[in-house]
Amino acid sequence: MLKKYTEKRDFNKTPEPKGDKKPRATKNKSLSFVVQEHAATRLHFDFRLEFNGVLLSWAIPKGPSLNTNDKRLAVMTEDHPLDYANFEGIIPSGYGAGEVIVWDRGIYLPLDKNEESISGIMEAEKLIKNGLKEGKLLFKLEGKKLKGIWTLVRMKKTEKDWLLIKHKDEFASEKSHPWKDDSILSGETLSDLQNAKSSPTKKKIEKKSAPKPVGVQKQKTAEKKF
Ligand code: MN
Repeated sequence: MLKKYTEKRDFNKTPEPKGDKKPRATKNKSLSFVVQEHAATRLHFDFRLEFNGVLLSWAIPKGPSLNTNDKRLAVMTEDHPLDYANFEGIIPSGYGAGEVIVWDRGIYLPLDKNEESISGIMEAEKLIKNGLKEGKLLFKLEGKKLKGIWTLVRMKKTEKDWLLIKHKDEFASEKSHPWKDDSILSGETLSDLQNAKSSPTKKKIEKKSAPKPVGVQKQKTAEKKF
């Protein structure tokens, strides 16, 4: 499942995980999810769900929204290795070049049509497998930032375009994006990484007045590339 992932990258150049580690056994444990913020050609959020030893991945240009009226475009991209969930840093020139932070991470529970989670990892992955076929995934997120019930729905007549939508529950809000865009691992923002790159010694001083990620400015003219 990682063929596309390895084909796209030159591991002599990028610090990203090679994806050559054997996936750990999934028996008796929960499924994990991770959201990475990525200042590539276009700034976006990479939303990843563990399934069958890899991370299913979607690039979400606008990021997740807590507002149940928002439908956020989520473009399915290549599967990523499980240890990608720990990756943050700077991808040098080449595929996906730009800064990456781990924006959120936690576990997710696939839900059935009655919004009930089911016991057993095998059964949970079966739900995801069917959901991928039918184009509708329903799950509960237990992260630091993202919580509650969410759905991913594939748009009709497309293969890769999905929509990420917040379901109504106690975590829904009219505020689309109330979160701070920092790393849950290091507390750093994309701007911190960019500043550290251009001037390692100034890092701490610039932290307070850090500008918006440069990816935002590029967004308009850039070709669709994640
Ligand atoms: Mn990305």
